[in-house]
Amino acid sequence: MLALLLVLQQSIADSSSFRALALPPATSTRSASGTPGPRYWQQRADYTLQATLDTGTNVLRGQGRIYYVNRSPETLDHVWVQLDQNLFAPNSISRALNLPPLRFAGGVVFDFTSKGFAGGITVDRFAVAGRPLTTKVFGTMMRVELARPLAPNLSITFDIAWHFPIPPYGGGRMGRVGSRFYELGQWYPRMAVYDDVHGWNTLPFLGAGEFYLEFGDFDVSLTVPAGFQVTATGALANPTVIRTPQERARLARAFTSPGQVVQVVTRQEAVAGATRPVPGTRTWRFTASGVRDFAWAAGSGLRWDASVWDGILVQTFYHPEATPWEESNMMLRFALRHFSGALGQYPWPQISAVEGLIEGMEYPTVIYCPSLRKREDQYWVLMHELGHQWFPMQVGSDERRYPWMDEGFNTFADYDAAEAFFKGTPYADSVRRELLAAYAATAIPGSEQPMITKPDEVRELYWTAYQKPALMLTILREAVIGREEFDRAFREYARRWKGKHAQPVDFFRTMSDLTGRDLDWFWRSWIYTTARLDQAVDSVRTRDDSTFLYLSNRAQMVLPVTLELRYADGTSETRSLPVEMWNLGSRFTYRMPSAKRLASVVIDPRVIYPDVNRENNSWRR
Ligand SMILES: [Zn+2]
Repeated sequence: MLALLLVLQQSIADSSSFRALALPPATSTRSASGTPGPRYWQQRADYTLQATLDTGTNVLRGQGRIYYVNRSPETLDHVWVQLDQNLFAPNSISRALNLPPLRFAGGVVFDFTSKGFAGGITVDRFAVAGRPLTTKVFGTMMRVELARPLAPNLSITFDIAWHFPIPPYGGGRMGRVGSRFYELGQWYPRMAVYDDVHGWNTLPFLGAGEFYLEFGDFDVSLTVPAGFQVTATGALANPTVIRTPQERARLARAFTSPGQVVQVVTRQEAVAGATRPVPGTRTWRFTASGVRDFAWAAGSGLRWDASVWDGILVQTFYHPEATPWEESNMMLRFALRHFSGALGQYPWPQISAVEGLIEGMEYPTVIYCPSLRKREDQYWVLMHELGHQWFPMQVGSDERRYPWMDEGFNTFADYDAAEAFFKGTPYADSVRRELLAAYAATAIPGSEQPMITKPDEVRELYWTAYQKPALMLTILREAVIGREEFDRAFREYARRWKGKHAQPVDFFRTMSDLTGRDLDWFWRSWIYTTARLDQAVDSVRTRDDSTFLYLSNRAQMVLPVTLELRYADGTSETRSLPVEMWNLGSRFTYRMPSAKRLASVVIDPRVIYPDVNRENNSWRR
């Protein structure tokens, strides 16, 4: 009897497109409305570091302290630390996998093999109060046993020292050119995130999946050759020691003439500086607060432009031979203003873009970007890396699991920023169309993977983590929610989770909370499946005083329908049908109380949907 009941139950299982998504329940940490809950907590990690760049051996040596606060309700008897440089260790997983390079649009390639370089980090000391702790390294992760368990609301200070050889090409996200230019990222032992959803986040760094990091304050002293320029996360704390009077005067001019690009180091000065030997070293000190990471770049012979927008210093550092970097400062400033308006004010005192070998990589308040030939590409990469200052530098999502929440949200915002910068040009009018072209080329049934797949398991990461989420949010805004309400909700998500760790459910609930829409059906098909869309107009009939449009949904994805109706008398109109039209199944008859003679009907006339068969989208008398 019980078995029969179970069979009956199975036979009536809800397979509706509109059934609820199985989401984790709300907690006191993450509320049902999508806000951080009343007992929201996250760990804190502050770093005080001193590092020396040895350009003779290309080794980075560091030491310092990590102040770690356990704000979780649990007692910790061990902590996990990220040793990202072990991506390059001789025995690393990535090396064994011999991963194929990641390919992006415009010929941009990230090669995780590090092109044969063998390195890895050596942790020379991990101690508390002078007593070394027991550690065990698992690839890019290290478990540290605490001598005494760390109870809730208590802190611990780790005393650390480490060194590693700097790779010439650090997996596409860091590296150097000989011994004259360095871009440093993932260069110190970083605390793994301990959160309320996964506990310790110990997924290894393999290449494709980026970072998940705690927020905190940094005080970093960097000792480099005296002739080097250094730019880093945060703000320079000892400018009177480091800056020449001329540099200080030129920087001051940037502040007194906002909007004007001031050459702090001119081309001539940069070229002269590249060859002039300066003996000895200098120590640059940077401080940053409320950031999740710290990166820096150092080298000789760099040009340096500066301008100011709304009190924020916009800096570009580039090699004299880089083209067309003269315009980059203005591009960056434009994008800074655009994103501040769209997503919330940029919260830090400065942003720096560094031109170099890295194809494009983001860190708090500092971004790496190459020199690109096409103006559109140059703006895109600069602006994209800047957009990361909101996702994930402010909304600190888990990039190793959910790249669609940072790369994807950012790419969506990037299309707006590109359309704004190139407004009035054919590029601006057409750039977003590339998403539909990418859909046709990449979203192949049987090989496409759902957006929720972890990046290290994704074959077409550019599509899955960047382009498809951008297409998804474009459709959500333009065809489901409407621009004004969508923008308000999206911005509110960024505000609610600023400085915090957002999970997918927090985004879903915020969007529903602000728009009043149940969107489970939308997230299911776009994020958790590879459902396809095929809307069709089957036939049109007129009876008595009514016109009947016979519409069908021939694939798995549901979306509202937009109809363009042209009449025999030469008039036309556009009508939007709500997604609830598919409540009763995949066929829908739309009755219009009018016998006005129709000449043609077109579904999705603006061509914003990735409809897999457009041939059945129109009807002609
Ligand atoms: Zn990105």
